This record gives sequence, C-alpha cells and structure tokens, in this order.
Amino acid sequence: MFGLESEEPSYEQRVAAAASLSGRLGVELVAPRIPAAADLELRAPRVSPPEALRAFCRQDNWERAYHSYGNDRTLHGPFGRYPNPPDVIAHPRNEQELEAVLAWCSEEGHCTIPYGGGSSVVGGVTPPADAGPIVTVAIDQLDQVLEIDEVSRAARIQAGVFGPALEDQLRPAGFTLRHFPQSFSGSTLGGWIATRSGGHYATNHTHIDEFVETVRMLTPSGWWEARRLPGSGAGPDPNRLAIGSEGILGIIT
Ligand SMILES: Cc1cc2nc3c(=O)[nH]c(=O)nc-3n(C[C@H](O)[C@H](O)[C@H](O)COP(=O)(O)OP(=O)(O)OC[C@H]3O[C@@H](n4cnc5c(N)ncnc54)[C@H](O)[C@@H]3O)c2cc1C
Repeated sequence: MFGLESEEPSYEQRVAAAASLSGRLGVELVAPRIPAAADLELRAPRVSPPEALRAFCRQDNWERAYHSYGNDRTLHGPFGRYPNPPDVIAHPRNEQELEAVLAWCSEEGHCTIPYGGGSSVVGGVTPPADAGPIVTVAIDQLDQVLEIDEVSRAARIQAGVFGPALEDQLRPAGFTLRHFPQSFSGSTLGGWIATRSGGHYATNHTHIDEFVETVRMLTPSGWWEARRLPGSGAGPDPNRLAIGSEGILGIIT
C-alpha cells in the first residue's frame, strides 16, 4: 500500500505473475528488475552536514531515494526515477539535535522538509525542483509516549510515532487515541497534525483536531507552543496555526 520494499513481491514472484498474466492475456509481459539502492546513480549531494550533526545525518543512496517521495514513490521507485533527491536526511534523536539541524539550515538557507511517515499523497515531502540544497528532517526517532495523565485522560506524545506503535504504548494503560486514518500503519502523529487528517476508519469524532490539547513546534525563529488546555471557550484556538500547517511553519515534536 505504501510502496515499501518490505511489502513488495520478490523478483521471482513478479516474473511468475508476468508469465501467468502473459498466458491469460495473450501478450508478452516482462517484469522489469527493480533497481537496488546501491545501483542508483543519484546526483551528488550539493552539501554535507557539519561535523557536529554527522552522527544523526545520512547521505547514502537508500536514505536519499526513500526520502525523495511520499506515497508517489510507488509510481517512480520501481523505475529508478530519482531526479531530485534530498541532499541530507537528518534523524534527530532529541529536541537539541533538532534545534541544531534547523539552526544550520536557517543559517545556510537550506530548504528544509519535515518528514513523518511519508504517506503524503500531495507531494508534501517531495523536494521542490526549483530549490536547493534540500535537508529532509525525518523525526522517526522521536517516537515515544512520554506521559499519560490518567485523570485527565490525556497524553504527551512525540510526533514521530507511527499509528500502531502509538496504540501499543497507550494500550497497557487502557487508552486509545482512536484516530484511525486509512494510512494508520504508515503515518505519524506529527504528520496527522500537520495535515489535519481525518480518521476515516472510525465513526463519530474522527479529525485529529478533536484530540489535540496543544502542539509543540520548532520554527525557524524558536519554539512555539500553545497553553495546554482540555478545552477552551476563549476565542481563536492558537493550535489551529499548527494543525493543518503542512510543515510550512515549523517541525512539530
Ligand atoms: C493508503 C493511504 C491512505 C490514506 N488515508 C488517509 C485518511 O484516511 N485520512 C487522511 O486524512 N489522510 C489519509 N492519507 C494521507 C496521509 O496519510 C495523511 O495526510 C497523513 O496524515 C500524513 O502523515 P505522515 O506522517 O505520513 O506525513 P508525511 O507524509 O511525512 O508528511 C505530510 C506533510 O506533513 C508535513 N509533516 C510531517 N510530519 C511533520 C512534523 N512532525 N512537523 C511538521 N510537519 C510535518 C510534511 O512536511 C508534509 O508536508 C492516506 C494516504 C495513503 C497513502
């Protein structure tokens, strides 16, 4: 469903399927070989991270190819089409490393793309052709439920956690977020908030908006965080700046 290597049939299975279809349809179908990451000839990175950031930054073919697309990787990946890969992929392991990489991008003017699960179907994580260098910031290392408040039935959750891992961490305490988009297994809390996602696999309250008490977001000019409230009748909700912002204002943690 997400065009991931782990979900694809093997070369042998595809050859067998092509032979079976060829027989049934009366035309010759050939299963092309899907190129291995090591064989891709990608444009050389236009920039490298400074020494202080190298421990959590990657520039290998697999990382650059994987982060070249969102869900449209299914259209291009099998043909080895990666004309505009990101130059650096950062996987910050904490907020200090996130601050450091965003400070570097701001100082140098690098185009920065937040990357959650990469299930975007609108090109949200695809590097723009007319900008560069590109630093993709994948927040997959920030994947923990940090605190569960059983009285308020609220939790503080890091934004890089994927749907199933989030539910696995809430379940022992008897809770569920109850947000089930069709991309549940391949998308993250931060991505849901950034895209204002709808949980089409649940009934009644289904939008992520309904479950967010506050958002913490690192912007190019510093941290942004609204006051955490279970509900408020006091005018416009500042969280709505972040919810649906599609990654253009900052990186939600
Ligand atoms: C099979 C399939 C089913 C889908 N079903 C649904 C559905 O039921 N409901 C629905 O609403 N959508 C659905 N989508 C679309 C997509 O899954 C959602 O938009 C999802 O919320 C994206 O989450 P992600 O973690 O994959 O984000 P990504 O694809 O990684 O990013 C999406 C956008 O958000 C930004 N972003 C990601 N993480 C952060 C962050 N931490 N901080 C700031 N910006 C960030 C990115 O820069 C990008 O612009 C579906 C997609 C697929 C492929």
